[in-house]
Amino acid sequence: MPRPAVQTVRAVHLVSRPDGPPTADNFAFVEEPAPALNEGDALVENIYQSVDPYMREEMDEGGWELNAPLEGRTLGRVVKSRTPALPVGALVHHRKAWRTHSVVTPAEATVLPDLPGVPLSAHLSVLGGTGLSAWVGLTRIARLKPGEDLFISAAAGGVGTAAGQLARLLGAGRIVGSAGSAAKVEHLTGHLGFDAAFDYHDGPVAEQLRAAAPDGIDVYLDNVGGDHLEGAISAMRDHGRIAWCGAVAQYNNRLQPPAAPRNLYDVVGKSLRLEGFLVRKHLDAKPELYDFLVPHLRSGAVVPDETVVRGFEHVVDAFLGVLRGANTGKMIVQLTDAP
Ligand code: NAP
Repeated sequence: MPRPAVQTVRAVHLVSRPDGPPTADNFAFVEEPAPALNEGDALVENIYQSVDPYMREEMDEGGWELNAPLEGRTLGRVVKSRTPALPVGALVHHRKAWRTHSVVTPAEATVLPDLPGVPLSAHLSVLGGTGLSAWVGLTRIARLKPGEDLFISAAAGGVGTAAGQLARLLGAGRIVGSAGSAAKVEHLTGHLGFDAAFDYHDGPVAEQLRAAAPDGIDVYLDNVGGDHLEGAISAMRDHGRIAWCGAVAQYNNRLQPPAAPRNLYDVVGKSLRLEGFLVRKHLDAKPELYDFLVPHLRSGAVVPDETVVRGFEHVVDAFLGVLRGANTGKMIVQLTDAP
């Protein structure tokens, strides 16, 4: 049966900037008539949207415009098309998120590879920018070698759960994770193959890390910054490497210098390498990630770890939830039925 024509599109705009933690009042839901398609355009019905910690930084001055369409990684299905490059029915990835439907050109959308046995949402989690961040952090920045011991912070989140599973397959030695609740700690050690994990609320990170990795660590994948970075520097063996991926502990207070790390100069004393990276500068690593991971996804050795919130009306809550740890694995919003 032909699908009814799309008459209206729902979207979310940023309407004010937060001072500290954001709230739902910083956003507004708007409804607009469905946009007309020009020659070369396609209309995409959005199925899954990613909500990510970096979006908190976009809410500050210099980031997203107020009262305007927002962006974010999105998967959808082409429902109307005026370009042969994006045929009706194609499943695509694009960045025009925070709306139920998006008009895209072929330059703005990528048709997803057909990967039987791999769930669609994996293109936002382990096979998307999240998994790629973990892959790049471990293989290109930290250059993890088999047998090396590793600490991952925000380990029960999207990047963290991908990194733990990838590191195990890459032959890491002891894998230690930190997370924000006892349930997450149990998830890491009980389901994701971490050797040890701790709740960072239970005591100083440096002390808990020393107890979990008494012989020290070779590699740290930092998603948090602050006291986690300080604790990792203190646990590092000589010639250790720190791949700095994110600093989620700081995003609500960007203008305040963090109190930690106080031991940064130990980077010199221990001959450490601390290197930050942006995944968007390593998109050429995607084929490597696919070659490595897709067989493990098909065999079930890796299961995408995701929290899927259903309903476009919950997209703001899902985003606010990521910032306070409501997710285990990658936080994804499902807008409509997946194929
Ligand atoms: P995520 O880990 O799925 O979600 C963020 C997690 O951070 C929450 O689940 C929460 O878990 C934890 N958290 C929040 N406040 C915290 C605090 N004060 N101290 C410690 N943990 C806190 O998000 P993600 O998308 O996978 O991203 C993880 C990190 O990587 C973020 O810093 C992000 O900005 C960064 N990132 C960087 C790149 C890049 O290109 N460099 C790309 C992707 C992501 P708990 O319950 O454990 O607190």
